[in-house]
Amino acid sequence: MAHLNSHYLKLKAGYLFPEINRRVKAFTDANPEAAARLIRCGIGDVTEPLPLAVREAMHKAVDELGTSEHFRGYGPEQGYEFLRKAIAENDYRSRGLDVADDEIFVSDGSKCDCANILDVLGHENRIAVMDPVYPVYVDTNVMAGHTGAASDAGFYEGLVYLPCTAENGFMPDVPTEKVDLVYLCSPNNPTGAVATRERLEKWVAYALANDAILLYDAAYEAYITEPGVPRSIYEIPGARQCAIEFRSFSKNGGFTGVRCAFTVLPKELLCTSADGEKRPLHPLWNRRFSTKFNGVSYVTQRAAEALYSSEGKAEVAALVSHYMGNAKILREAVSGAGLTVFGGVNAPYIWVRGPQGATSWDIFDRVLNEANIVITPGSGFGNAGEGYFRISAFNSRVKAEEAARRFAAMKW
Ligand SMILES: *Cc1c(COP(=O)(O)O)cnc(C)c1O
Repeated sequence: MAHLNSHYLKLKAGYLFPEINRRVKAFTDANPEAAARLIRCGIGDVTEPLPLAVREAMHKAVDELGTSEHFRGYGPEQGYEFLRKAIAENDYRSRGLDVADDEIFVSDGSKCDCANILDVLGHENRIAVMDPVYPVYVDTNVMAGHTGAASDAGFYEGLVYLPCTAENGFMPDVPTEKVDLVYLCSPNNPTGAVATRERLEKWVAYALANDAILLYDAAYEAYITEPGVPRSIYEIPGARQCAIEFRSFSKNGGFTGVRCAFTVLPKELLCTSADGEKRPLHPLWNRRFSTKFNGVSYVTQRAAEALYSSEGKAEVAALVSHYMGNAKILREAVSGAGLTVFGGVNAPYIWVRGPQGATSWDIFDRVLNEANIVITPGSGFGNAGEGYFRISAFNSRVKAEEAARRFAAMKW
């Protein structure tokens, strides 16, 4: 009989979102009149329509493909030159950061990139993740056999968890032990925290001293509003030797359904091979794309390119400002109600400390019952999230304002 990948059996049952859905359904079944009042502040998905510049570029690209003169079949696996150049130029070189066009790899999503990068990394690596954490980093390592079983408390044997607490500003300091791979996410999902330049300098110094690699997820880069907060890991000198950056058009351009993202893998970044040689990772990642991927559709890449036009940039700015306007309204309402709030300034997520002694699920139930709002329990992202909850600012203004009124009216 064929064997399955037993590592999958170690995965904790997809607990968080199914459990949220179960509780919401139980509530709406018991209170049908409240169902219509329900406001979802739990989702990590955009709500507003695609920018016009994007739609126009897509229509045009479709029409091109409909003519024998401009028809295109397979494109370059790593992405069309026009998009790699637009990314490298606009996101990096125009900001003084040295990134070459062929260090950009265009893909169908950051979720996939974060998972696929493990293909070109060895199985011997010691891996560190933040706690609370975007579950993809953990689960993909479990699937790849990089961990043991999960403990009752939910920690996988073999992973190094870096607690993110109010004390460290929800951004971990470097560990005292040696690790080889570190997943960092800034602006952070779920906490909305951002890494300061000083914090990132320490991480780059740590990575260089320990021959470690930083896997830097900057999917929410567009939401940074405060000056001085690094938008790319490559703003830190030395990062080209030790960091891979993940970016996505999902949250800035509203591409969660369209699907387009990219990784930056600098040619200077070296890893050790089995024979003890230091070798660049870039050719392996390039090879992986050629062998296992046939590229993002032409229409989608033209759509992504349009985000860098002046109209596209203005529309992205308007989308970000819409969601950050929601974040401000929600943040002020919850903080005005007496709770301690974090995030929501450089990220579309607000991270709230619940009342003393209440678990994240207690708060979830109370908010659902009393305000008819769905939030995300912090403990669902890791043990260090216990007692917290996440409010997403991805919503229409009308719903964000109504949610804010209800949060403010709750007796915490
Ligand atoms: C939304 C999100 C992404 C983007 O994923 P895509 O697959 O590009 O849609 C990446 N990382 C984090 C932490 C996210 O929340």
